[in-house]
This record gives sequence, C-alpha cells and structure tokens, in this order.
Amino acid sequence: MANPLIEKLLILQDRDQVVRRLADQLESIPREVAAFETEIEDETTALENSKSKLQSLEVQRSDLDLQVKAAQDKINKYRNQQLEVKKNEEYQALSHEIELTEKQILVWEEEEIALMLDIDEESEVFSERESVFDATIAEIREKITVLGGRKTEVEAQLIEARARLEESKTPLEVRFIKTYERLADRIRFPVVVPVKGQVCDGCHLRVSNDTVEESRKGEELTTCDNCGRVVFLAS
Ligand SMILES: [Zn+2]
Repeated sequence: MANPLIEKLLILQDRDQVVRRLADQLESIPREVAAFETEIEDETTALENSKSKLQSLEVQRSDLDLQVKAAQDKINKYRNQQLEVKKNEEYQALSHEIELTEKQILVWEEEEIALMLDIDEESEVFSERESVFDATIAEIREKITVLGGRKTEVEAQLIEARARLEESKTPLEVRFIKTYERLADRIRFPVVVPVKGQVCDGCHLRVSNDTVEESRKGEELTTCDNCGRVVFLAS
C-alpha cells in the first residue's frame, strides 16, 4: 500500500469492523437466551398439557364407571321390587325399566372402551415426553450456560477491540476520523474501498477521471462520485 493515509484508514476500518461484529454478537446473546427459555416453557407446557389431558380422560372414565355401577344398583333394586309386586302390569313396567337401563349400560360400556383406547394413546404420548423431558431441559439449560460464558468472553474481547480501535485513531488527523465515522454510520461496510479499473469496489459503478486523478495524489481523502465511500487506487 503506497498511500500511508489510506493504510491507516484501512487499519481503522478493520478494527472498527471487529468492534461492530463483537457488539452485534453481544447484542444477540440475550435474544438467544430468551429463545432457549421459551423452548423450556414450551416443553414444560406440552408435558403439563399431556398430563392434564390424561387426567381428564381418567376422570371421564371413572365417572362412567360410577354411572354404570349406579345403573346396576338400580337394576338390582327393580329386580327386588319385582319379587314384591302383586300386579302383572307393575311387574312388566319394572321389566321394561330393567331393559332400558341395561341398554344404557351397554352404551356407557362402549364409551368406556373408546375412552380406554384414548387413555392408552395419551399415556404413550405422556410417557414418551416424560422420559426425555429432564434430558431435554438439561440440554437447553446447558446451552444457556454456554451462552453466559460466551457473553463474558465477548465482553472482554470487545473491551480489547475498542482499545485497539482507539489506538488506530491516534496517528490520524481528527478530520479524517470524522469523515470515516460519518461514512461508517450511514453506509454499508466497507466504507474505504479500492478503485479497480476505474470502478468503485463499494458500489461497482464507474468513477470520474477527476476522482482517479485526485486519489492518485493521495493527500486528501477522495470519495466515490456515486456512493460517497473513500476510494483509493488499487496497487
Ligand atoms: Zn462507489
């Protein structure tokens, strides 16, 4: 690199990019942690949902059981009454009630069989979830711990990178630093780019002859006519 001013600016740009990359990393860590925490919540909710679904099926089943038992008691009661009634119509009426109740019991028993199949299915889902739950949560927590370590690491790297960035400003005139910083805040990196075959390496458009001439002198900062980046002649 022939131009010492450009050389210093390129060092500044390099170190600035390191600082920006580390700052971005540091900023993204809390988001990553939050995403993992959401994963833990989702896993926990899924397990709880499966458990309460299973419990509600069990409750339905025991309710049906009670209904069937109550109906059977009723049938027994009707049969006892039949032993005591005198009139045939009364006896027939009780037989009719018994028949209706038996039909109802059959319906409930079928419902119970369907419920038992659902319970089996949900039990499997629940056991499967439960068997991997602790390991899954531990795995996610481990990732969060790693991110915590990473954060400390990046924070230290960032302090050092900022110090190195400041060092790179020392040999530069303040006005050059200001120009660079203004560009760095509004244009996509890199903001100090070579001109190759009269084309700006930043925007890939052709620069004027004047710009080429100016940058050949290398005393002041020359900017691209199109994008405003600092340009220098590629050696
Ligand atoms: Zn340009």
